[in-house]
Amino acid sequence: MLSRRRFLSSVKQSAVGISLLPVLPSAVFAQAGKSEESADDDYYAKLGVAHIINAAGTYTYLTAAIMPPQVQRAVAEAAKHPVRLKDLQVASGEYLAKKLKCEGALVSAGAASALTLGTAACMALANNVEGTIRVPQGADAMKNEVIVQKGHRYEYDQALLNCGIQFREVVTESDYRNAFSSKTVMTHFFNAAESGEIDRETWLKIAHEHNVPCMNDAAADMPPIENLWKYTGMGFDLVCFSGGKGIRGPQNAGLLLGKKKLIDLAYSNNSPISDAVGRGMKVAKEQIVGMVAAVDWLLEQSNEAMQDEYKRRVDVIIQQVKDIPTMKASTFMPEVANHVPHLLLEYNPATVGVTVQQAMEMLRKGTPSIELNPATGTSERTSIPSNADTIVVGVWMLQPGEDAIVGSRLRQVLTARNA
Ligand SMILES: *Cc1c(COP(=O)(O)O)cnc(C)c1O
Repeated sequence: MLSRRRFLSSVKQSAVGISLLPVLPSAVFAQAGKSEESADDDYYAKLGVAHIINAAGTYTYLTAAIMPPQVQRAVAEAAKHPVRLKDLQVASGEYLAKKLKCEGALVSAGAASALTLGTAACMALANNVEGTIRVPQGADAMKNEVIVQKGHRYEYDQALLNCGIQFREVVTESDYRNAFSSKTVMTHFFNAAESGEIDRETWLKIAHEHNVPCMNDAAADMPPIENLWKYTGMGFDLVCFSGGKGIRGPQNAGLLLGKKKLIDLAYSNNSPISDAVGRGMKVAKEQIVGMVAAVDWLLEQSNEAMQDEYKRRVDVIIQQVKDIPTMKASTFMPEVANHVPHLLLEYNPATVGVTVQQAMEMLRKGTPSIELNPATGTSERTSIPSNADTIVVGVWMLQPGEDAIVGSRLRQVLTARNA
């Protein structure tokens, strides 16, 4: 919050700046830079875009995570100076590879672009292209097949298809063995898939028996922290993570980790190379630095301390709603992706007098606006066991103090009719 005094002092500073304008333009910028929090800098207010309380989770449409203060500071510092982009890409990659115990690393524009760059790298390798591969336009004339389990097909297929690949779908292990051909460039694994009968170890072993690299999309699969090196450690040649989800880096950053040879080829197909498939996936210096700083931040955390904090938040909310008639509060922790406690609040709407949909709308329309987890009121999100009468609260993206606000607002809306 901007205090009145700070506001006045920043107005005074800019007044000084204006008086210097004809004499010393650079001094104006120096002065302007000093008033860090002038009211004019609040572009959400200026644009009339409401803040929300994120009681949902790391969802892209809710801008996912808030960067921890030390990451925000690193981003702001990086914004002050131009550098040679190549130097920053190489140095950040080497730094991350060392910290994350893999051969090579690249800061991508999110996990989706890591998937595209990883695919381009495998295509380049299979087709003996040393650098930038002409895709998708020439792909059909090249080796371009990617083997995947039927149960691992998902929305992010598009990120691979951007390279002009063709999927070969398999179900059984023998399908898989038979699917390798002279056109195979890689096999792909969706780490959080809920179906698919071939497990990671077998999938990987068979790919390597055929000398074919294997990519794993683990975008949302941190925590636990050690997953950042678990899958490369198992032997996956390429592993993708989202930078803006649990890692709490910039939302438009991600990680492609893996074998040095493939990571080098991914760089050859990335921005700033103008005719590369990754050219539109530019990561700016601020986000490259932010991604590195987020990994540094994360490696200072502990899984136990983070999970304890999430459980504490769950308890704060439960205390507020536990005596609402028919209320059954429980927590659920998905096995792989979003492996954090989710609070499930199931009640009988006929007794309480408010449906889950109504409660969700009231929270959304209130001030501050609260967004619940999208599994609220539905059984369609199969990763969370909710139903039409269940509110789902994702607590891990709440900012300090927001657990109490969510608790009391939930209590308000659920007691409104019977108050
Ligand atoms: C979120 C997600 C992605 C995309 O990640 P971005 O960092 O937003 O590009 C890809 N795959 C899976 C499984 C995801 O959950």
